[in-house]
Amino acid sequence: MPELPEVESLRRLLVRSVVGRTIVHATVTNAALRRRVPSDFARQIVGRRIERLGRRAKYLMVELGGELTMLVHLGMSGSLTRRCGAFPESSFDRRHDHLELKLDDRSRLVFNDPRRFGLVKLVARADAASCSELRALGPEPLGPDFNSAYLAQKARGRRAAIKNFLMDQKVVAGIGNIYAAEILFRAGVRPARRVYTLSRTELKRIAEATPNVLREAIGLRGTTFRSYRDSRGKPGAFSRRLKVYGRENEPCPRCWAPIKNVVVGQRASFFCPRCQH
Ligand SMILES: [Zn+2]
Repeated sequence: MPELPEVESLRRLLVRSVVGRTIVHATVTNAALRRRVPSDFARQIVGRRIERLGRRAKYLMVELGGELTMLVHLGMSGSLTRRCGAFPESSFDRRHDHLELKLDDRSRLVFNDPRRFGLVKLVARADAASCSELRALGPEPLGPDFNSAYLAQKARGRRAAIKNFLMDQKVVAGIGNIYAAEILFRAGVRPARRVYTLSRTELKRIAEATPNVLREAIGLRGTTFRSYRDSRGKPGAFSRRLKVYGRENEPCPRCWAPIKNVVVGQRASFFCPRCQH
């Protein structure tokens, strides 16, 4: 499932190729995504220029001419690819190409999503921050508002497991199961630890590990397990750098103890029983 690093990698690749282009045609093949794509979607966006590409949490914010913003969320299995020339079309099942935007350089932006949990929504730019998807989100983990003082203040009295706390989008935006596991390994904290039992030092280590892990993953264009592909249709390379996620019974890269997998909040949670306390 794409998390912040995958969406940010996608944004950085698309910035180079689609900003400044105009949408000349739009086709909605299947409107039944997480929320139904409105019937006037194509009419609303055709003729508009892509002015800027932003990101908030796991949402790509495509800012269009005329103060309109298109929010794109990849859901569980979505991808947004720019197709032209030698694009590897065969790695995508055409039946799941739900949305296609033709641009004025003859390339196409295609939203493909086998499980259809993704979302594409148009909002007036002035209302974007207060729309239902974005208004309750916590700070960006790569921004100045996320630091150890913020984390310590949020953590006070919280009984949740630290891993669920990190994945709570109201606490901090954009972190899911993969990166929560990696952050906690770097910080030396077990995923099931109750938040209120963490020391100031442990919270500080978590606050510092968070942007470091995410930045490293963005540099490698994210993690691909199953379906995730970047805007060129290529998998992300961070999978090879994962220290604990998906590595049950493999040796810890730091101490060689076998990695364990416990269920925390109904999700698989990988950790090293020797390095994490
Ligand atoms: Zn270890």
